[in-house]
Amino acid sequence: MLRRSLRMALQRQEFSIDYQPIVGDKGVAGFEALLRWDHPLLGTIPPSVFIPMAESDGLMPEIGSWVLDQACREALEWPEEFTLAVNVSPAEFLTDGLTDRISQTLDEIGLAADRLEVEITEGVLLERTVDNLDTLNTLSVLGIRISLDDFGTMYSSLSYLKNFPFDTIKIDKYFVSDLENNEKSQAIVRSVIVLAHALEMAVTAEGVETPAQAQWLNDLGCDRIQGYVISPPLKVNAMKSFLTTLKQGPGGGTPVSNDKASQDWLGTDIESRT
Ligand code: C2E
Ligand code: CA
Ligand code: CA
Repeated sequence: MLRRSLRMALQRQEFSIDYQPIVGDKGVAGFEALLRWDHPLLGTIPPSVFIPMAESDGLMPEIGSWVLDQACREALEWPEEFTLAVNVSPAEFLTDGLTDRISQTLDEIGLAADRLEVEITEGVLLERTVDNLDTLNTLSVLGIRISLDDFGTMYSSLSYLKNFPFDTIKIDKYFVSDLENNEKSQAIVRSVIVLAHALEMAVTAEGVETPAQAQWLNDLGCDRIQGYVISPPLKVNAMKSFLTTLKQGPGGGTPVSNDKASQDWLGTDIESRT
């Protein structure tokens, strides 16, 4: 039943996109687009359930195109300094003409290529290596940034880091969740940061939930963090007030947690953004 309704979901306009802030030492750097499906009878279905389904039923290229188009249109309303990160699934990545479609969408909507970040997982890179390298190089030449998502959970192949033009490595929440009390996670995160920086790549840590984790990441030299400690993914309306609050500066109150570690991450940015 779920599979059947998934086929109709796009047409029935049941999808929406939430946006989760990604912050660096100068404050909010951008937002990651996260797809949501509100089923009319079953309510919200998590992406971990419907995305693999859409992927195996061959629906992902079409759904992914909708996400890209919709997210680029919504990002056009944001201040220009904010980037938009969009997840691209393996099936979508391997469809012909992906780079043409992305650059056409950007042209049509009028979003600068350097505001778009494409997030892929290593699963994408397992097949058709030469074609994949071509695709990533083309995106890179267009000025689109590329992030390697969920790093550390799959093969974490160093040859990918050597051969593919990533701008950012996203460290999976698996290594972040016990950062305060697990020396092995600390060692892994520290090493990935050193490795990424040596390769001139930035590091974003995902799933940062506590001020202590944010503090650890700051101390380890992580470039950006993303997680509930800063903000959960925001619905369109919450996103609008988040942006308004950022614009208003301290008088408007900070839209994110005001613990010290989060504030360290946000630096003086919120205050200076008046
Ligand atoms: P992801 O790309 O790794 O996205 C991060 C996930 O972590 C999101 O789950 C987000 O809501 C969640 N998250 C954020 N902060 C925290 C935190 O502090 N703690 C914890 N425990 N979780 C946090 P979500 O939204 O359920 O998405 C799950 C996955 O579905 C995504 O993982 C991504 O792989 C996929 N996905 C979501 N939207 C899209 C899309 O538009 N296209 C494609 N291809 N995949 C998508
Ligand atoms: Ca992602
Ligand atoms: Ca991830």
